[in-house]
Amino acid sequence: MFDELIGNSRVKAVLKRMLVADRLPGALLFTGEEGIGKKLFALEIARALNCRTPKDHEACGVCSSCVRIRKLNYTTRDDADEWTQIIWTDHPDVGLVVAPKRVLRVEQMRQIEKEANFRPFEGKARVFLIDEADKLNDASANALLKVLEEPPRTSYLILITARPAMLLPTILSRCQMIRFSPLAPAEIETHLVKNDIDKKTARLRARAAGGSMGRALSGDLVTFTSQRKAMLKVLNALVLSEDRAQLLRSAEQLNEAQYKDEFEERLDVLETLIRDAWMLSLGVDTSRIVNEDLSTELKEIAQKINPGRAGDWILQIEDLREQLIVNVNKKVTTDSLFLVMAGDVAAGKRPKVR
Ligand SMILES: [Zn+2]
Repeated sequence: MFDELIGNSRVKAVLKRMLVADRLPGALLFTGEEGIGKKLFALEIARALNCRTPKDHEACGVCSSCVRIRKLNYTTRDDADEWTQIIWTDHPDVGLVVAPKRVLRVEQMRQIEKEANFRPFEGKARVFLIDEADKLNDASANALLKVLEEPPRTSYLILITARPAMLLPTILSRCQMIRFSPLAPAEIETHLVKNDIDKKTARLRARAAGGSMGRALSGDLVTFTSQRKAMLKVLNALVLSEDRAQLLRSAEQLNEAQYKDEFEERLDVLETLIRDAWMLSLGVDTSRIVNEDLSTELKEIAQKINPGRAGDWILQIEDLREQLIVNVNKKVTTDSLFLVMAGDVAAGKRPKVR
């Protein structure tokens, strides 16, 4: 039942059409940010294909197949070898593989190849999810290609990734790509309220989540609040005082080991703060900004912000993000990002952060 899943109505319509026409491709690639429900959609497809009492080509949600496909049996052991096995649902025809560490391994793809060649044991289709497909290396991607080239008619592979650009063209060309959109803050908020989170917290979480339900549910508000405080300092230094020393301190802090995992989150936060101040400077109502609860501070910044430069800052952050994909030195790039933002580089052509 697709209507139980949140958001992405366009994706629902596309998948539904494929199911109704009995034209679901043997290899699908689900792309889109982390935490927006790609895996749940993939499992929903597996349920629709194996449901015993389907309703209008969708899973009924209550038959024993539907119920068992909902549950993935992740190992509780930390041993990497355990994680190289297919993680089966309670249904013998539906399973998932994840990268045990940094890469998806060749033997995992061989297991999928072997299993995909069996006819369904119980249901009508075998469905294999490959999570974090961007973690395929050349060897495992080549092993997977063998199945992708000639998938048995009753087997389906669903690759899932937030970083499709990391996949080999040979893989991309053999999968039909389905793009998922970030969820709207209102969609997230409604869901959180339905799950007994109070309205005020739900609103803050929904806005901090950047379109990801995963982040809205697991995100830690204490961390978010402290990230916001630190990034507000950066924005203040940029706008109010042009305080270079403070900026370099902030750049340094951003690179400190304890914040390493938060690096990109912090950039996201900085970006929403800049956007908010920019919008306020253009006279947009406070109810439409992300960090509504900081509107006093942001209004003060908005009075002094130069809208043209705010636009540049956002582009510069986007540039930095692109560079992070190819793993440049974070320290150097952050220092230069902040200095470029502070206007150390001559105005005119948009400077490249290096
Ligand atoms: Zn069912």
